[in-house]
Amino acid sequence: MRHPFVGGRTTHMHGDAIAVTDPATGATVDEAVEAGAGGVDAAVAAARNAQPAWAGTPAGARGRVVAAVADAIDAHSDELAPLLTAEQGKPLRESRIELHRCAETLRHYAGLALNIRGAAFSALDTGTRGIVLARPLGVVGAIVPWNFPTTLLANKLGPALVTGNTVVAKPDETTPLVTLRLAEIASAAGLPDGVFNVVTGTGEVTGAALVAHPGVRKVAFTGSTPVGKRIMATAAGDLKRVTLELGGSDPLIICADADIDKAISAASMGRFFNCGQACLAIKRVYVDETVADRVVEGLAKKAARLQLGRGDAKGTQVGPLHSSAGREVIAAQLADAVASGGEVLAGGGIPEGGEFDGGWFHEPTVVYEPSHDSRVSTEETFGPVLPVWKVSGLDEAITRANASPFGLGSSVWTRDLSSAMAAAERIEAGYTWINSATKAYDELPFGGVKQSGYGKEHGIEALSFYTDLKSVVIRD
Ligand code: NAD
Repeated sequence: MRHPFVGGRTTHMHGDAIAVTDPATGATVDEAVEAGAGGVDAAVAAARNAQPAWAGTPAGARGRVVAAVADAIDAHSDELAPLLTAEQGKPLRESRIELHRCAETLRHYAGLALNIRGAAFSALDTGTRGIVLARPLGVVGAIVPWNFPTTLLANKLGPALVTGNTVVAKPDETTPLVTLRLAEIASAAGLPDGVFNVVTGTGEVTGAALVAHPGVRKVAFTGSTPVGKRIMATAAGDLKRVTLELGGSDPLIICADADIDKAISAASMGRFFNCGQACLAIKRVYVDETVADRVVEGLAKKAARLQLGRGDAKGTQVGPLHSSAGREVIAAQLADAVASGGEVLAGGGIPEGGEFDGGWFHEPTVVYEPSHDSRVSTEETFGPVLPVWKVSGLDEAITRANASPFGLGSSVWTRDLSSAMAAAERIEAGYTWINSATKAYDELPFGGVKQSGYGKEHGIEALSFYTDLKSVVIRD
């Protein structure tokens, strides 16, 4: 059984054992303890102890340690990637990509460490100067889901650490293994004891205890919208800061003059990567009616060709869903789309026989013209089902896109850059890609609007979500 990493070492705790299951086989890979309120107390105490010395470490030195952690993650990729695939289910190639992205994000923030600055005013009053200091908040609780356990952690760890905060992370109860190993690797790479701690357990018990803990000054959360709302409500109890990266239902709009082949590839990749279990993923396609036949044919062909299989098998392009519960939801959403009039053009079922019988597989699926009030339109779909609708032009596409309660990403395909820019102004989302899709850049602030969340990760802007500005007045 695995135990939390607290104060620089694995710390044995008493609590229920939670099984970690391989989504491709249903077999138990390992177990991790429910750390509970006691475990959270110990981790927050370690983080609070470590924080003053870490905040007092020169910013450049903090950045160098974070960069060393990034290098160590890359150096351990051969060990970490199979562990991530075993607990998460994604193909090994995608695990390697994820781990490298995690290291790159940490490197990005290591570089920004030398740019943490406040402001100075030379003459507020006669003989009076003012300084604005950007000070760390203290202990940050970082709660992440199972779909990208390492990159979503790095989005919080990077800006939190370089600004002088310490962190208590809680991975999803189904994916604690890579996170625990990362903490060991980070410690061996030079991160001081207590600066980065990991507690294991469920959201309802250990996660809730972390959010409610009075020693935590900020909660950085990525996960579902309902849980995000609950976290914001709890955090309000003692006015903790929160950032919330929540669900999405990203539209991809294909205009009549678009490069159709590239748009089809982007929609397919954007939907089926990570078996459709990404926040930034193409979850709705709106295509101009004059090119709709070509687009749906191309999407259906691509979906049918994708190789479904175990994440650790050679050639696998789409792995299993992460859980049986997740597969039940996506299957029910698809059934609702079909009942509403949608036509299944590729996939549509649960594959059977051989390796498919043990795990949570679902065929990559394209469904055409379900009703606009069906569940695939109004809810987030977290699996390999791509709904496509034809529209009468860009105007209708934008109206449909904005009808969703979510506002995370969006993508517009056209050769007319001025109408694309006008669309980018009108679409209610934190990101609009023009002739591109779903790739988030460390340099650009990222975060949703509406039910997709609150606050920004990535970019130098993220640093402001981990610091408080303090004004100091100095009189001669
Ligand atoms: P979830 O909200 O159920 O769980 C996420 C994390 O929160 C887990 O660690 C879980 O244990 C914890 N948690 C659950 N209940 C809690 C509580 N009451 N108090 C504290 N912590 C609690 O999310 P999920 O369904 O496992 O993850 C998928 C969701 O995450 C999707 O909606 C997806 O779109 C979203 N997501 C968003 C982004 C983004 O950046 N916007 C990125 C990836 C995933």
